[in-house]
Amino acid sequence: MKQQTENHQVLKDQFGRKHDYLRISLIEKCNLRCQYCMPEEGIPLTPSKFLMSADEIGSLAQTFVDMGVKKIRLTGGEPLLRKDFEDILANLSGLGVDLSITTNGVLADRFLPIFQKYGLKKVNFSLDTLKEERFKEITRRSGYQKTMDNLDLFIQAGFDVKLNIVLMKGVNHDEIVDFVDFTKDLPISARFIEFMPFDGNRWDRSKLVSEKEILGAVGSEYGSENLISLPDEDNLTARKFKIKGFHGDFGIISSVTNPFCGTCNRIRLTANGRIKNCLFSNQETDLLTALRAGEDVEKLILESIFKKKAVRAGMDNLEKLSDPNLHSDNRSMIAIGG
Ligand code: SAM
Repeated sequence: MKQQTENHQVLKDQFGRKHDYLRISLIEKCNLRCQYCMPEEGIPLTPSKFLMSADEIGSLAQTFVDMGVKKIRLTGGEPLLRKDFEDILANLSGLGVDLSITTNGVLADRFLPIFQKYGLKKVNFSLDTLKEERFKEITRRSGYQKTMDNLDLFIQAGFDVKLNIVLMKGVNHDEIVDFVDFTKDLPISARFIEFMPFDGNRWDRSKLVSEKEILGAVGSEYGSENLISLPDEDNLTARKFKIKGFHGDFGIISSVTNPFCGTCNRIRLTANGRIKNCLFSNQETDLLTALRAGEDVEKLILESIFKKKAVRAGMDNLEKLSDPNLHSDNRSMIAIGG
């Protein structure tokens, strides 16, 4: 394992925020077609020769670790569709960082022993409904039972499991209480994510379920006296709560109505090797071409992070966020890596 050395500069932006959390998208393809994420026909895919190889992922990740990154999350697309997933994980496991993954879970059972072998213990399952028919409508695919079975398998095997639930009015907002109830006997954290706008995902502010509405629904079901607010974590991304006596807890990721930009420590690396300093930004810096040309990648990373805006790529209010023109060219979550 190579540690950060004094010859490398720490990743700080112009506001002094230190960046030590890297999310790497391994692939643009997905085996689901979630309505809020990807069009039914899919998205134009980058030709494979322009995608990072397992070694290039390892090499760029090493550079980030040298510059102070301590946590790496694998995402996509569906990261488990990568044929060389084990090689990638083997490379990253040598870096001595905290490894985690976000997956739709459909293929997760096949990878459980590989996760265990390389010390990946934190798994976020994306699951927007507890109803099979609705799963088909949201994802435009089947796979509900497989996902539920795999979720159970990972909980039983002692993984640190979280659920990612994108809430949308008229789609699944009536399942807030069902999801909180799901945490009653299970040691998991259910995290409600506000529906976010990306190029072409037909975002509409009226579909958004806000933090206030979520807490309102939970409070009326369980009584506000039973709703416990949990302490904030460092670099928080979710405000966390628990119902008195429940084994698990739940969180709210309000990137739209109440963003966490002040403590943001995240950097994103897309499957085609571009760094994005903010999920909402349409600016990308091409690290892969620089790496292949033997150029100074660290300098490009520093420049990109330094230029990061204070709040959501400059969209500092809901009016700006609601303007579709400001999202043009911000590739969908599937291509960025959620
Ligand atoms: N395929 C994997 C999965 O399903 O978890 C990883 C990629 S997916 C793009 C990562 C996360 O982004 C998922 O939890 C998904 O729900 C979330 N996501 C995608 N589009 C979103 C949107 N418009 N608003 C909020 N979250 C979104």
